[in-house]
Amino acid sequence: MGEEVAAGPATGKGPSGFRGAWWTDVAARERFAAGSGILRWMPRAVAEAHAPEDVVALLRWAAAEGVPIVPRGGGTAMPGSNVGPGVVLVFGPGFAQVEWAGPGRLRVGVGATLAAAQAEANRRGWRFPVDPSSAPWCTWGGAVSTNAAGPRTVRFGSVRRWVEAIDLVGGDGGRRVLRRDAGGAVDAPTGFHAWAARLRADAALVRSRWPRVTKNSSGYALREFLDGDDLVDLLVGAEGTLGILLAAEIALTRRPAHEGLLLVALPDLEALGSAVAVLRPLGPATLELIDDVLLARVPSEERAAAGVPADAAGLLLVTAEGEDEVAVRATLAAWADAVRPWAAATATLTAPAALAAVWRWRRHASLRLATEYAPRVSMQFIEDCVVPVAALGAFVRGLRDILAAHELPAAFFGHAGDGNLHVNPLVDVRRPDWRTAVRAVLEATVEQVVRLGGTLSGEHGDGRLRAPYLERIWGPELVAHFRGLKAVWDPANVLNPGVKLPVPGQDPLDGLGPFETGWRPPRPVDVA
Ligand SMILES: Cc1cc2nc3c(=O)[nH]c(=O)nc-3n(C[C@H](O)[C@H](O)[C@H](O)COP(=O)(O)OP(=O)(O)OC[C@H]3O[C@@H](n4cnc5c(N)ncnc54)[C@H](O)[C@@H]3O)c2cc1C
Repeated sequence: MGEEVAAGPATGKGPSGFRGAWWTDVAARERFAAGSGILRWMPRAVAEAHAPEDVVALLRWAAAEGVPIVPRGGGTAMPGSNVGPGVVLVFGPGFAQVEWAGPGRLRVGVGATLAAAQAEANRRGWRFPVDPSSAPWCTWGGAVSTNAAGPRTVRFGSVRRWVEAIDLVGGDGGRRVLRRDAGGAVDAPTGFHAWAARLRADAALVRSRWPRVTKNSSGYALREFLDGDDLVDLLVGAEGTLGILLAAEIALTRRPAHEGLLLVALPDLEALGSAVAVLRPLGPATLELIDDVLLARVPSEERAAAGVPADAAGLLLVTAEGEDEVAVRATLAAWADAVRPWAAATATLTAPAALAAVWRWRRHASLRLATEYAPRVSMQFIEDCVVPVAALGAFVRGLRDILAAHELPAAFFGHAGDGNLHVNPLVDVRRPDWRTAVRAVLEATVEQVVRLGGTLSGEHGDGRLRAPYLERIWGPELVAHFRGLKAVWDPANVLNPGVKLPVPGQDPLDGLGPFETGWRPPRPVDVA
């Protein structure tokens, strides 16, 4: 477990002006010492804000006293961005609102879950098309701050594209509402415009160094800011390092009348790169992978009913959507023809119950891995790499070699259509050298991702785990711009220090384990 910091007074009531709840007892702190990933840090205190004024008071105190603040939503993020020394800040019921804000718009509090917002959108015939599998537990604060994504991102992009406005408090304690397309009228902290001018002067370099990936949650969104001149883009995906979000306005899209699923059984994961290269340009709404490690947990009668051969090495879930059922079926048939040279078998499903059953295999992958592989521990330390789609085949081959060299079995699943695979090694923690193996696999994977021109996070963020590799991925010039942005928004360096940008001497595995207190869903879910 990571070190507890000694800085800052922890009183029974919290800082002056803070009227929320304030806990310093061990039980409360332990509850927030783990997220869903592998890093553990015991906080000094836990603060629950009940109103925006509490956040302002807390940040002013933190900046004056030099106390780190770790904002936290559902705690489901994996790279240690939701744990840390200092004060963990959580959000009370007053931040859980979901309000209709006109056709195709929702205003959401940062404590509301994505599932709550989705239910409200669906009730009105709309949907939020970015659909993380953690929607029942993850909050808007976390989803916006990680630039979360999901199976439909291959068609609809990540959360950033759908954020219209953000209400936040910066590290200087100033509250601002940032709205898209505000142009020069943007209300930014002192020094922001000078930073933006330096970035624009470097635009050609930034663009030339930017990884050629189709989704990304590493670093700050410099390229998106250069493209759109929109401050909102920089705050989305900032992992609580630039400001504390209070609420957001989110755009929605209409629900399609029909959808169908093409299942592509792969003879070997070697075929993955070629199958994705054929299918992605056809415009599917999902292009997801589950491998044989996860398929092995699906009851054989369910697999047979869906037409999946018992010896499939992997399965692609390819979705067609549309207003016309006949057209959806025809699309699925055409896609099946296109991918046939790379498939062991294909099947198409259109009955809603059959689709729901197969999606459970995919959506519950992380949950199964977290709960069903004892005594092995499913560890998330190379779980979110993203590479250019054309490099997917090389990435899978290279990673399998790395894992084999260190005798670590692993599950491969996730967003194949975006070159973003969740690879979870299943580590036997009874093995005396397991930490050495984890570090070696992590280092070799970073090398490989650099070589292939990817980043270490397609959707989960850098967190504490990946911050020490930031410069290897982005290079010193872009990291200098990242640091400049951070200094403008968080001059006292109290917003999640060590997340995204490393602090001196930071090791990626600081705070590794123990594992008996890992993240569990807060309420029972159907993992059938
Ligand atoms: C079973 C499972 C499935 C998952 N599936 C997906 C998936 O499909 N797609 C995906 O993208 N991710 C997925 N994840 C990862 C995770 O759910 C997402 O990263 C999610 O967006 C985190 O939301 P959260 O509310 O749990 O945030 P937390 O984990 O609490 O925090 C995440 C980050 O947001 C910051 N933060 C939280 N609230 C605020 C705030 N108000 N202001 C500023 N910063 C804040 C935190 O400091 C931290 O940096 C999955 C995780 C699990 C356990």
